[in-house]
Amino acid sequence: MAYFQKEIETASREQITEWQNQRLAATVKRVYDNVPLYRERMDAAGVKPEDIKTIEDLKKLPYTSKQDLRDTYPYGMFAAPMEDVVRLHASSGTTGKQIVVGYTRHDLDVWGEICARQLVAVGATKKDKIHVSYGYGLFTGGLGLHGGAEKLGCVSIPVSSGNTERQLTIMEDFGSDVLCCTPSYAMYLGESAEKKGLDTSKLPLRAGIFGAEPWTEEMRQSIEKSLNIKAYDIYGLTEIMGPGVSYECECQQGMHVNEDHFIIEIINPETGEHMPDGEKGEIVFSCITKEAFPLLRFRTKDIGTITHEKCACGRTFVRMSKPMGRTDDMLIIRGVNVFPSQIETVLLQMDQSPNYQIIVDRVGVLDTLEVQVELTEDKFSDTVAEIAKVEKDLTEKLKSLLGIAAKVKLVAPGTIARSEGKAKRVIDKRKK
Ligand code: ADP
Ligand code: ZN
Repeated sequence: MAYFQKEIETASREQITEWQNQRLAATVKRVYDNVPLYRERMDAAGVKPEDIKTIEDLKKLPYTSKQDLRDTYPYGMFAAPMEDVVRLHASSGTTGKQIVVGYTRHDLDVWGEICARQLVAVGATKKDKIHVSYGYGLFTGGLGLHGGAEKLGCVSIPVSSGNTERQLTIMEDFGSDVLCCTPSYAMYLGESAEKKGLDTSKLPLRAGIFGAEPWTEEMRQSIEKSLNIKAYDIYGLTEIMGPGVSYECECQQGMHVNEDHFIIEIINPETGEHMPDGEKGEIVFSCITKEAFPLLRFRTKDIGTITHEKCACGRTFVRMSKPMGRTDDMLIIRGVNVFPSQIETVLLQMDQSPNYQIIVDRVGVLDTLEVQVELTEDKFSDTVAEIAKVEKDLTEKLKSLLGIAAKVKLVAPGTIARSEGKAKRVIDKRKK
């Protein structure tokens, strides 16, 4: 087993708790002294920084949300003076107005380290060439993994997103070993390689680090097959740091949360009560080492579970599940809660293309759900009757899983737009 920082990644629970207790107390003091929003909220709740001594006291602190960042936009929640800030990033704005976050030199060092932990966990070494196809710029994906590759001392190839043809040429000519991009873009690269007649088994590429959007186990298998690699999950969000808040190890059984820097809580989104291991709830993070932008008890709106069970890799950090979607993404169709990831699971289990789009509309007072799925090349030549049969089977399967009827429409290969970053799976025409 290889680790980037063995003593930290395999530390005892007592040691982790000790780090968390000390660092939490220091961060609470820092935000109380520097961020008016925290001072006001803590004063209103009658909590003083001295009241927060251990992680048990965390629950005394108020939650923060994306709305707080919007209300204090741009710099109201910065806890370090601008002269100490060395970089800004912004969220990709998937769900509304962008927010801006900052990093000190120390923050960037920590970020590099946690991304390096991810790289080592997927088997990367200094000799490897890391092909980064996440977008470079305000989006945290590109520069985040780039920082990890530099920290580890790998050869970074900062390709950024876009120009798929060129991506494949670089992969082939430069001999990329590890690919970093969104899972939907990885799918597209695999598909493009096949179209081009590029035999991916001949490429040195052996692992991929994919995140920034939800993806299913079925999609993982499909990417592993088409690119001939092992595909690993990475999670993160701009507000907390960027990619690397949690990372998957070779066991591929959930992502280890970097608990020396972040505290994770899983709560019931309605009552705020803590959920036991294995039970679904909203993921809440507190940053305990950040200087410029340390959010405490930030409600991510992502839904997931955690486990404290021992992992075979030897790492002791808790593991979180792949988030199945955001509370924001959840569609309520005729009163039924539907996550796009549930639909994706059905499609891939039934051997359909991962290129799909969900269209929700309202006719009169009734919500309608249509799932458009591309035909795979081999099925494209099927007869009308064969296609109708597939549509019928998919409709039945979706009905039994979701509990509501969806109209399934198979469309010609290549007709659904591909994404170079995060895929846009849902078009909700009810939101006009
Ligand atoms: P935006 O909120 O504008 O999309 P971010 O790039 O910060 O900006 O996105 C962070 C969000 O992306 C997370 O809150 C989560 O919903 C999603 N995400 C990130 N990594 C993963 C992952 N591995 N699996 C599922 N969702 C993920
Ligand atoms: Zn592990």
